[in-house]
Amino acid sequence: MQLYNSLTRTKEPFVPHEPGKVSMYTCGPTVYHYAHIGNLRTYIMEDVLDRYLRYAGYDVKRVMNITDVGHLTSDADSGEDKMLKGARREHKTVMEIAKFYTDCFFDDCKKLNIRRPEVVEPATGCIGDFIRVISGLLEKGYAYEAGGNIYFDTSKLRQYYVFHNFEEEDLAVGVREGVEEDGNKRNKADFVLWFTKSKFDDQELKWDSPWGLGYPGWHIECSCISMKHLGEYLDIHCGGIDNAFPHHTNEIAQSEAYLGHPWCKYWFHVLHLNTTSGKMSKSKGEFLTLSLLASKGYEPMVYRLFCLQSHYRKALVFSYENMENAKTAYRKLAARIAALRPEGEIDRAVFEEQRAGFARALDNDLNTSLAVTALYDALKAPTNDATKLALIRDYEQVLCLNLTEAAQKLREETEAPAADAAFTQKIEEMIAARADAKKARNYAEADRIRAELSAMGVTLIDTREGTTYRMEGQGNV
Ligand SMILES: [Zn+2]
Repeated sequence: MQLYNSLTRTKEPFVPHEPGKVSMYTCGPTVYHYAHIGNLRTYIMEDVLDRYLRYAGYDVKRVMNITDVGHLTSDADSGEDKMLKGARREHKTVMEIAKFYTDCFFDDCKKLNIRRPEVVEPATGCIGDFIRVISGLLEKGYAYEAGGNIYFDTSKLRQYYVFHNFEEEDLAVGVREGVEEDGNKRNKADFVLWFTKSKFDDQELKWDSPWGLGYPGWHIECSCISMKHLGEYLDIHCGGIDNAFPHHTNEIAQSEAYLGHPWCKYWFHVLHLNTTSGKMSKSKGEFLTLSLLASKGYEPMVYRLFCLQSHYRKALVFSYENMENAKTAYRKLAARIAALRPEGEIDRAVFEEQRAGFARALDNDLNTSLAVTALYDALKAPTNDATKLALIRDYEQVLCLNLTEAAQKLREETEAPAADAAFTQKIEEMIAARADAKKARNYAEADRIRAELSAMGVTLIDTREGTTYRMEGQGNV
């Protein structure tokens, strides 16, 4: 598989550290609010990568953190604490907020068929690990104490700005939002590893540490949680492009300083979801959540298809018109699959040839748009329905669009009235046969038919005008 690596800014052959095994780390949500659909786009694309690696035969172990402490409104360690902000907004405790929005996040993931990683670790559960790594950094001279806080000293590195200038506009976010300067920092790019004395006197969650009562910075979370579960060598680190700088840059700085060797080989960054008026955010314009889309008639699978139709390294523009198109495309796909009949033997030659096309698309830097095209190719392939259905089921291991389920539902909806009509006809035929039997004074036969109908849930009502009937649970017919 060829994968674009943000670290080298080139497409490279994917070779994991240990043959056949993949360690994968995903920056999880900061659980102070609902996820907006732009965040969810990142998780969908990461999910496809995860599933495709498994499909390709790798043994994947994936880890995700849950940020429930330490993330300030600016990624560059200034502004308010996001969790406190959420708690104040809703008059709840930080832990109540964390629990509520963690559950909401995984509900959204479930609806979108995003696999839950093997390990999901909240930051508040790893305080001891953070303290151990920060102590190690202090011992090695990569960190210092100033004004009561512990900072990472970026001047100690040969190269700090890994992802800077990567995409000027995208990466300036942290810098732009961080208004005030922290006078304790020796260098402008230094970042906090542990807060003790800070402006957050009202921080709810504090822990004992060798440097006093305090709480961890955001960046140290991901390094520690990744190393804890995936060891010293990480194959793929995923995240939204927003996190490339400063968050991922800081993760690399502290992990490699601590370990003394290169840490993560491939960096997989998903581009923004934009609205027609610019970058999507929680604070600007309509707060687009998965439930808002559902309330407007766009089911989660329609959104997943919409995301899959474009490449993860391209910014994607959200509009209701685009959602409408995705909805139509989804319905048409489901209808074409519903029309297939699973008859005949699977044609192995066609199956393998088609499947190779699907794999080729994803092998080429996860080209999901071409993988979706492969679905249409399978439907058009010169082969029987059984082969087409087998191909769709195979692709669905990666695409996970619930297409066979949607097709089945469509079939039931269209077949049910037909079945009803047949049933009604049968009842009417039996009523006519009973009338004939009665006319022929064959009362035994007439009673037998009445009993048979009764067993079918049909009660006969004889009137002067003729026989009508009543179905169980329904009115007179
Ligand atoms: Zn992270």
